[in-house]
Amino acid sequence: MTNDKRKAAVIGWPVKHSRSPLIHGHWLKTHEIAGTYEAIAVAPDDIQSFFEDFPKSGLVGANVTIPHKETVIPFLSSLDKAALEIGAVNTVWLEDKDLHGTNTDWTGFLDNLDQEARGWDSKRNTALVVGAGGAARGIVYGLNQRGFDRIVVANRTLERAEVLAKGFGHAIEPIGLAQAQAVVGEADVVVNTTSLGMEGSDLMPIDLAAAQNECVVTDIVYVPLETPFLRDAKRYALKTVDGLGMLLHQAAPGCEKWFGVRPIVTAELRAEIVADLNKTDEQI
Ligand code: NAP
Repeated sequence: MTNDKRKAAVIGWPVKHSRSPLIHGHWLKTHEIAGTYEAIAVAPDDIQSFFEDFPKSGLVGANVTIPHKETVIPFLSSLDKAALEIGAVNTVWLEDKDLHGTNTDWTGFLDNLDQEARGWDSKRNTALVVGAGGAARGIVYGLNQRGFDRIVVANRTLERAEVLAKGFGHAIEPIGLAQAQAVVGEADVVVNTTSLGMEGSDLMPIDLAAAQNECVVTDIVYVPLETPFLRDAKRYALKTVDGLGMLLHQAAPGCEKWFGVRPIVTAELRAEIVADLNKTDEQI
């Protein structure tokens, strides 16, 4: 048991449905860490005063979620390479009274696939990423770090995929959503990063019938846990990975930074969060 009671938090607006307090609460308890982790609602208009006052707040660090992942950047003394290239920060920590930031969404994405679909990246030929929003940026960065030869980004708004591709300056191929179907048969991994599949949304306009047998299909939407897209993939006997693991894995580096313990994602943690999802049915 450690003696110094360190305080961390998740900052967002709204933030009350964030599962981060449950995730970190689970690790604080199982590792017997004398720390706390709370959810703090910070309105967009209050972001400047919140982060300027951060060193006096008693917090050692925080997760940063929607809508502050980009607006936090001017208040940081340093960003690592990943956060800089992705252009968003989800984890901050104090060091010598200065605030530093990183992005762990991309490692969370990769760690989830490594744990749930071992060998998913054995070929590293083609990845098809559907969507070009904030989450897609981290995922494209991760796939690129992992060494995929070709990363195709298909988005409803083509211009947004083009901007994303340019920002990375690598061999990222932007296409419109209607062209995604032609890439399915070549993909080693297909990732949905759009909100399609959440309760009440439209269905994904992609048929997985042409996918190779070894293609892994993953969705970063986790409410519902089994999206219609993943259900489709299962019908074709493809390996699927849901989006909850990404959320759990992205949290681990923050726990290590603030509390000094690198936790692992266990079946017990997952079951605790699934039980909460079943109660509230909301994703943030
Ligand atoms: P975002 O920046 O708003 O981007 C949304 C994306 O969805 C865009 O590519 C958008 O296309 C596309 N889209 C929305 N409605 C569509 C429709 N009807 N048809 C086709 N495309 C549509 O959102 P984000 O921050 O990237 O988040 C996306 C999803 O990922 C959310 O559901 C979020 O909860 C989830 N997420 C999960 C995790 C995790 O840990 N599992 C982490 C981060 C985010 P346009 O550009 O054409 O509008």
